[in-house]
Amino acid sequence: MKKHTCPCCKKNKTSKFLVSKKFPYFTTPIKDISKKKIKKKNYLKYFDDLKYSFCKICDHVFLIKSPNFKIIDELYKKFYSYPSAMSGDFLPTRDDAFLNFLKKYLGKNKKKDCSFFEIGCYDGYILYQLKKQGFKNVAGCDPSVGARIAIRHGLNVKNEFFNVSKIKNKYDFIIARHLVEHLDNPLQFLKSLENIINENTKIIIEVPNGEFYLKKGLVEVFSHQHIHLFNKFSMQSLVKDTNFGIEKIKQEGANIYFILSKKKEINKIKKIPLVKRFLKKYHHNLKKIKLILKFYKDKQIIFYGAGGFCCAAIHLYKIDKKIIHRILDSDKNKINKEFLHIDKKIQRNNINLNSDNLAIITSYYTDDILKLIKKKNISKNIMLIHPEIKLKRLK
Ligand SMILES: [Zn+2]
Repeated sequence: MKKHTCPCCKKNKTSKFLVSKKFPYFTTPIKDISKKKIKKKNYLKYFDDLKYSFCKICDHVFLIKSPNFKIIDELYKKFYSYPSAMSGDFLPTRDDAFLNFLKKYLGKNKKKDCSFFEIGCYDGYILYQLKKQGFKNVAGCDPSVGARIAIRHGLNVKNEFFNVSKIKNKYDFIIARHLVEHLDNPLQFLKSLENIINENTKIIIEVPNGEFYLKKGLVEVFSHQHIHLFNKFSMQSLVKDTNFGIEKIKQEGANIYFILSKKKEINKIKKIPLVKRFLKKYHHNLKKIKLILKFYKDKQIIFYGAGGFCCAAIHLYKIDKKIIHRILDSDKNKINKEFLHIDKKIQRNNINLNSDNLAIITSYYTDDILKLIKKKNISKNIMLIHPEIKLKRLK
């Protein structure tokens, strides 16, 4: 069913935002054998047109057509692979920024007996750190294999999808990071939390920051998994229809935190035009990328970062996948796997390369990868996409 009503403010003034034909559902590299199996049957069902609309009233960006959740669930259960901070796979910059925010919010005098529940806690890194800070009553759930890592570290985590009726306790803090943008019906989700909260519960939400992406004309955030791109104003419109109010907002670069509580509301958020600015900036970015690639057309082109960002870069920044010489990644779980639609094995970063090539960083962790590329002498010419399209030339 196509949606022409804004899921946040419920107005019918929506318009076309972004379209990409046959965008892959699987943006995670998979094993050879799984790829062969999928290619034998029903290969095409793993691709679908990605169609976003935006609301002219609140600048909320959302998928017009709900994705095929059967395929998305299959992806999360079978193939979802994200490096684990608990296993020491990477430096959890985004998670640490959240913990910093939370620590400041809780202050010094927070009672250690207050309770936390994290929905979609993956490997339990946040819960583990809270426990380390002295909070004893922490719990969570996650449908992916990440939950098993959390359980191995002694955390009270269930390896399952969030189901409010299964939770018997009430919690002082509910944490939902990078979850709400994946939901078909975020309003229903927020309302359902009523069953597991008390009068003073705070609901802490982290989502990609619409204002950040739209102002900069960046599109790496879009995929079938991301049904919504919220901004402050559209989140306020959504929350209006619940018993909650927005108590606090903090923008942290590409992400934004909201703290919701009962009947509290910060001053009314003013709307700023975002989509208009996006369209101008996005076309400028497309041109810039085209120009850089034209200049390096005789060089080998290496992609660094084999995740959803890489797929979005190819499809939404319109980079021809034929130019890919190699795809590298630091995550050991991705090595030797392949994207469903790109026949290149993901390789480690320590392979021998002639550094006279162009490396494109296709990851949110651009700074960390940039350092690595310099250190390992992987390339002298580097194109950054996030948080700005830029060419860097090293000596
Ligand atoms: Zn709206």
